[in-house]
Amino acid sequence: MRISFLLAAGLAACLPALAAYPDKPVTVIVPFTAGGPTDKVARDLAEALRKPLGATIIIENVGGVGGTLGANRVAKAAPDGYTLLLHHIGMATAPALYRTLPYKSLEDFEYLGLVNEVPMTLIGRPTLPANNYAELARWLEANKGKVNLANAGVGSASHLCGLLYQSALKTEMTTVPYKGTAPAMNDLLGSQVDIMCDQTTNTTGQIEAGKVKAYALMSGKRLASGPLAKLPTADESGLKGFNLTIWHGVYAPKGTPKAVVEKFNAALRVALKEAEFTKRQEALGAVIVGDDRVTPAGHKKFVEAEINKLTPIIKAAGQYAD
Ligand code: ASP
Repeated sequence: MRISFLLAAGLAACLPALAAYPDKPVTVIVPFTAGGPTDKVARDLAEALRKPLGATIIIENVGGVGGTLGANRVAKAAPDGYTLLLHHIGMATAPALYRTLPYKSLEDFEYLGLVNEVPMTLIGRPTLPANNYAELARWLEANKGKVNLANAGVGSASHLCGLLYQSALKTEMTTVPYKGTAPAMNDLLGSQVDIMCDQTTNTTGQIEAGKVKAYALMSGKRLASGPLAKLPTADESGLKGFNLTIWHGVYAPKGTPKAVVEKFNAALRVALKEAEFTKRQEALGAVIVGDDRVTPAGHKKFVEAEINKLTPIIKAAGQYAD
């Protein structure tokens, strides 16, 4: 009798706290610099989440070490639902790329739902003489050993795409790492680096404005509509089978109460259908997730499958960091 009374009293003490979640702003860590593709997803999503979640979302950019610095910050944060992570395919690539990673992608997080899928583009500095993919291939061949390839660090989407691209060409370029593709884009615009792979959410505007050269869509199928619909795929351009799509999802530290996970996930599902959010994302080539991967279990299953799919590909392309 006494034990059940104590249990009931304990439960009652916990319930108001959970029922009240969130009762203060929620911080979402973006593991790359502001103004880049992941940051853009996070800021659009933060806006869409405000109503269904009933809280303001504060975006904190923790760029560096290919996204692993920010991810590690969240892995070690208090599991109370107030420090979350918005991360991309790096959740699945970092375990294969780093010999020592201070967190485990599958074990140290609660999965809150997948958000979107984004195609990649291969772009070049405005002063690059090549105007299409065939010309770029010839230019790369003629400039072997001198080509600079920008990326957002080992574990980033741009790094993975560049790694697979170099592996497909059987060549090595000088990689120039940044804390995100926003600063990398600045240097590309200024012709300080030669080429870069980056997500359409960050490149569409620059391509449309003619500020960078666009060579190929590095994902499987041409975009159905929009300004990049005319851009040939890598496969069409001769890189048979090249197909890389980036995805983003939301994570909480392991041990975050189930009720908090469920509350956030419910809000996320509403936000993913919000008209302004979907319009903005889709205009930039992103596809909002509408299947089972929006559930915590579906999200985790997907990331696990991505780790299993990408690990041997990365190992075959052969690059590690410490
Ligand atoms: N997601 C990174 C960023 O937002 C870029 C990348 O992963 O390539 O800057």
